[in-house]
Amino acid sequence: MDFSLSEEQAVIVETARQFAKDRLGEGYLSRDRSGKFPLELCREMGVLGFIAPEQPEKFGGSGINYLTSGLIMEAIAKSDFNVAYVQLLGSLNSQILERYANKKIAEEWIPKICSGDAILGVALTEPGGGSDAANLQLKAIKVDGGYKLRGEKTSISMADQADIMVVFARTGDKESRAKGVSAFLVEMDWTGISTSRFEDMGQRCIGRGSIFFDDVFVPDTHQLGEENKAFSQVMEGFDFSRALIGLQCLAVAEVSLNETWKYIQEREAFGKPIAVNQGVTFPLAEAETQLEAAKLLCHKTLWLKDQGKPHTKEAAMCKWWAPKLAFEIVHQCLLMHGHSGYSQDYPYEQRLRDLLGLQIGDGTAQIMKMIIARQKLGENQ
Ligand SMILES: Cc1cc2nc3c(=O)[nH]c(=O)nc-3n(C[C@H](O)[C@H](O)[C@H](O)COP(=O)(O)OP(=O)(O)OC[C@H]3O[C@@H](n4cnc5c(N)ncnc54)[C@H](O)[C@@H]3O)c2cc1C
Repeated sequence: MDFSLSEEQAVIVETARQFAKDRLGEGYLSRDRSGKFPLELCREMGVLGFIAPEQPEKFGGSGINYLTSGLIMEAIAKSDFNVAYVQLLGSLNSQILERYANKKIAEEWIPKICSGDAILGVALTEPGGGSDAANLQLKAIKVDGGYKLRGEKTSISMADQADIMVVFARTGDKESRAKGVSAFLVEMDWTGISTSRFEDMGQRCIGRGSIFFDDVFVPDTHQLGEENKAFSQVMEGFDFSRALIGLQCLAVAEVSLNETWKYIQEREAFGKPIAVNQGVTFPLAEAETQLEAAKLLCHKTLWLKDQGKPHTKEAAMCKWWAPKLAFEIVHQCLLMHGHSGYSQDYPYEQRLRDLLGLQIGDGTAQIMKMIIARQKLGENQ
């Protein structure tokens, strides 16, 4: 076992950290207020190779491994959790396109994702529910040369900003559940698509909303994977994004903790720095311990993926634990800052709002625990 970074990894991480510090940190709050995703920054990240870097060079990636991709994500999320979301979507979706899109579509869109020229999303959740994803109702009706999409997706990140969307739809009959679901790459300017936006508490520059499909024609060329097999094929990519989400959230906890260790040595009460009190340092020491453990879990999950080994269970562990832990750590850091921590002069309130979304988005803790339990019960049979 080797926990050290290679020379190449260290250079990549330092470049990402420096970029994030210089270009992202300052605008974290103003982007929350504007509610707009910073497309120009996205392109800068593309030029530096920070979006979907695990993609091969022929598609505009750098061909680095999944673990290193996660390390870049961590470095970016330390300065802006929301900007890092474009990396998450880029890695998840480019992997889906690389594996399941036809060659022409993959060659057209993956380079645009890597360069930051295309913003994309994933549309799975529907008004009827998100946890029971196999029960989705949006219809894909077979027509000459393609399909017509009819129905609604809701709670979709980047709904009104994305250029393309991976959309899951029902091609089988109502009772077919997971065995009747197909996936399509949809260009968001196609006729028949409209969107709405929610007023959310966090992740405001990403934005979330509904997408309405009014008999939207999707050519056969845009089908991803085989008909009725999207659940077993296309959704396996979510294991990757779950580990990345873990690192995205933990990065926010780490930066908050670092700031708080510094703050408690400067802030005085009863004539001494508050750091002399174990009541102040012990919660932070506990947070450091849990943060370290959770980060190792995420790194191991990506390492397993790099080795081509199963990692569904570990990815679900990352997804339920890291967002919850990160939220609790940032909450603790806010409290250690006293009344100032509660003000918008400090980033803690925004970090809490942003982090909370990922305790729900991409599957709740309960659903992740169901996945872990299923895997363990399966192992024991
Ligand atoms: C910030 C954010 C971003 C999102 N982005 C996207 C996106 O880009 N694309 C997309 O498709 N979706 C997205 N979602 C939707 C998200 O994936 C769903 O909200 C999530 O899967 C839960 O579905 P639901 O909200 O319908 O809750 P429900 O399925 O109605 O569940 C409600 C509650 O019941 C619990 N529950 C349900 N079934 C069980 C069970 N069997 N056992 C125990 N507990 C159970 C759930 O854990 C939850 O707490 C996003 C959500 C958020 C908050």
